[in-house]
Amino acid sequence: MESKIKEFMNLVKKRDQHEPEFLQAVQEVAETVIPYIASQNIYNGKNILLRMVEPERVLMFRVPWIDDNGEIVVNRGYRIEMNSAIGPYKGGLRFHPSVNLSILKFLAFEQVFKNALTTLPMGGGKGGSDFDPKGKSDGEIMRFCQSFMSELFRHIGPNTDVPAGDIGVGGREIGYLFGMYKKLRNEFTGVLTGKGMSWGGSLIRPEATGYGAVYFAQNMLETKKDTIEGKTVVISGSGNVAQYACEKATQLGAKVVTLSDSSGYIYDEDGIDAEKLAFVMELKNIKRGRISEYVKKYPSAKFFAGEKPWGIACEAAMPCATQNELNGDDANTLLKNGCIVVSEGANMPSTPEAIEAFHAAKILYAPGKASNAGGVATSGLEMSQNSLRINWTREEVDERLKKIMSDIHDSCIKYGRQDDGYIDYVRGANISGFVKVADAMLAQGVV
Ligand code: NDP
Repeated sequence: MESKIKEFMNLVKKRDQHEPEFLQAVQEVAETVIPYIASQNIYNGKNILLRMVEPERVLMFRVPWIDDNGEIVVNRGYRIEMNSAIGPYKGGLRFHPSVNLSILKFLAFEQVFKNALTTLPMGGGKGGSDFDPKGKSDGEIMRFCQSFMSELFRHIGPNTDVPAGDIGVGGREIGYLFGMYKKLRNEFTGVLTGKGMSWGGSLIRPEATGYGAVYFAQNMLETKKDTIEGKTVVISGSGNVAQYACEKATQLGAKVVTLSDSSGYIYDEDGIDAEKLAFVMELKNIKRGRISEYVKKYPSAKFFAGEKPWGIACEAAMPCATQNELNGDDANTLLKNGCIVVSEGANMPSTPEAIEAFHAAKILYAPGKASNAGGVATSGLEMSQNSLRINWTREEVDERLKKIMSDIHDSCIKYGRQDDGYIDYVRGANISGFVKVADAMLAQGVV
């Protein structure tokens, strides 16, 4: 089996050797899915995984715009349309200076499995730009979004490709992107998700990724007859996912003691309660400030510049910032300090060494493609509401979200339970997602 996996990876490496994040995401899937394929006659010899690692389409385009000083700036725009076997391409847009083809291909590849896990009819895609929104004025953000959409609009549509937000793309950016799409197409459709409530958005969509990751942690803990209530939780990031993970964990009786951004982390031993979180939300979403300002407002908390929060003792860890933010050493520190559950809000935040450490210690560990799927699932619910031209209540959407997270958890158990009873959620998520997409691809022929 080892040699089959190696042979497959060599094929992928030959084409994509300069894409480390993409290779990392493919390797993880290959290690779990190739042995499964070998055990199932219907997939054998069909090169399904080889077809899945090749995007159906990659779009790369120039995004010129004019900054507040009148200078012309040129960024690069991307959309990876990875797989449409089970529905229109669906996945977020990331605006961050680190964005490149490798990062977007890894995200698009993971998205295919994640979207299949939600049970909703959504294919996988991802896009974005190396544009850095930090420090830009509202006018600059708007002009950039308009230029970005002036190319993207011809490739997307409610039945083709439905982008959403991701790092650097929140409600404000979705508004500018949607406005430009509507103007160019002269139609009001559900082509983006994460829209505002008065123009086609869904209740609970902003909260969904963070809430879903906490629901998933709760589902995992229930397998041990345990609960998140009373647990100390360490969260990284302070953006959309981190904020709502913090909110839900606190609502369920846990104590969240850290948040971070790219400049460092804050540790609040007393817990980040609703009032303190409201301050963080205003700081990050409206004032667009830095997390270090938290300690000015709450002096009993501490700020650690340039560090990550994984050294703080906790029972639950939720990485909610970015890929590869938690390495093998961090994982060992968490384990040493008594961490028993890790639910990823971010995509691929744990390195392969960290995942190995969690598995070796047999703690509850959920990969982002399972635990953060609540965001895209609720985007799927936004699409349904747009098609039906109705709005569900907050309670209705939240109930559906909970049910979807619990169903994803069940799928992970179905394919991930090992002989000794330990649940390998990575294996479970990968095989479950693979089966759904692979069956559709088999039925649709070689296309
Ligand atoms: P936001 O832009 O709202 O927040 C991102 C947070 O992560 C910020 O605190 C940011 O700090 C920090 N961060 C970003 N890049 C880095 C980096 N290179 N090093 C250290 N910190 C960093 O993004 P989201 O909350 O939406 O996304 C967070 C993660 O969740 C991403 O991995 C995303 O792919 C994933 N995700 C998001 C979903 C969603 O619905 N939004 C759905 C599923 C997954 P700073 O402000 O300093 O940059």
